[in-house]
Amino acid sequence: MDRSQARCSFCGKRPPDVQRMVAGPGAAYICDSCLKLCNDILEDPSPFSAKALELASRPPVVVAAPLETRHRDLAETPKLLPSRIINIELEQKQQDMTLMLQQLQVFEKHFELHYIWIRPPLQAGFAFVPRLIFLLQDNTGYQWAGDRGGMLLARSELSSESHQEAVYQGSARFSPPLSTATSALSIHAIDPLGQLENPPLQPWQFEIRL
Ligand SMILES: [Zn+2]
Repeated sequence: MDRSQARCSFCGKRPPDVQRMVAGPGAAYICDSCLKLCNDILEDPSPFSAKALELASRPPVVVAAPLETRHRDLAETPKLLPSRIINIELEQKQQDMTLMLQQLQVFEKHFELHYIWIRPPLQAGFAFVPRLIFLLQDNTGYQWAGDRGGMLLARSELSSESHQEAVYQGSARFSPPLSTATSALSIHAIDPLGQLENPPLQPWQFEIRL
């Protein structure tokens, strides 16, 4: 194994972006900041901490293939790998829901917003699919509405044992891609079903700098 390809299996960072890297079996590594995060999780008595959830829901780190094959794969599936990943890690609670924005992934022709949504479980037989609608506006006033082909996965293995809450992992997709003039984004997220609640759920609002 070429150690210069070492990449933390928990966050994907490589030297020199990490201070220390601990090698595990095969291609497994863990960096000092992920070790610290694991320690924090172990010290937190609650079975369902935000940190544990954030770690468990990270997209899998793919161990780097040799450069040659990576270029070939890219040519065949140009949308597979983001050209830039911006970590956000913002969280807001509202009534009994939590929305955690995790990452912006920038691709050649679109970008994706990855998030975790924790909400009370829907009643069995409920006819609507839960979803969030996003409205984005950047510092130049440009707007992206809706979600073009994102996804929402129920992550029941991350839900609390008492099933008081359901965890969804989602991504919303936007095109055209971010422009080079974009330095800040205002993100509004609306749960359409939240409009039926009393009082109606307010849109979540996040401000991020890129
Ligand atoms: Zn790490």
